Amino acid sequence: MFRDDILERYNAINNNINIIKQKYNIDYDINIIAVSKYSSIETIKEFLSLNIDLPLAESKAQSLRDRVGEINNFKDNVKWHFIGRIQSNKVKYIVKYSDLIQSVDSMDIAEIINKEANKNSKIQDILLQFNISNEEQKGGFDINNYMEVYENISKMSNISVRGLMGMAEYSDNSLVVEEEFEKLNTVYKNINLKYNNVLSILSMGMSSDYELAIKHGSNMVRIGSSFLGNS
Ligand SMILES: *Cc1c(COP(=O)(O)O)cnc(C)c1O
Repeated sequence: MFRDDILERYNAINNNINIIKQKYNIDYDINIIAVSKYSSIETIKEFLSLNIDLPLAESKAQSLRDRVGEINNFKDNVKWHFIGRIQSNKVKYIVKYSDLIQSVDSMDIAEIINKEANKNSKIQDILLQFNISNEEQKGGFDINNYMEVYENISKMSNISVRGLMGMAEYSDNSLVVEEEFEKLNTVYKNINLKYNNVLSILSMGMSSDYELAIKHGSNMVRIGSSFLGNS
């Protein structure tokens, strides 16, 4: 994709978010994550040359590693998020290259990340991904055990739990989607109530549903197909 198209898409998303914030009386920032998983390296470079300064996000460890390598030669201080399923044998790369791992979804994976971060003398920022959609393939911790999950993982020495992430099901019924987002919003509020606002990130919403996510408390949206697209 060309620079001008990317800029146009960014402006459209930004305007849209401002309208949504007004509509729901929201006075805090909504952070946009530029999901680059469908995009070519050329498109990513065009985007970075606009100096818009948003984190990029990848969902495969191999792509993350390859792209960080290429982009490091192109631009400094680019932030990367990991948003995909985490395989234990790939944690090494994910910890090495991610500023924020958004998709931590099991105790075993959290323990492996903690060990790897320790080896790298790093405190790894993470989000806990919860399953809010009842769709097994979406991944995420069982939301019924949320306090236990939070308490166990927040004790790990080389992990800093910064917030929560969830994906709603793909549905034409906006009430279903809203209910799922509200579930995670409630969990976010409950943890913050009990632990004095320890969490600052509620990552919900993608190209097709970010308005509903913001309506239900999201302060981080992960936009792929309607931003950097798939070429
Ligand atoms: C791919 C992906 C996105 C972006 O999805 P779009 O619908 O293309 O905006 C956001 N979050 C996660 C976890 C993803 O895997």
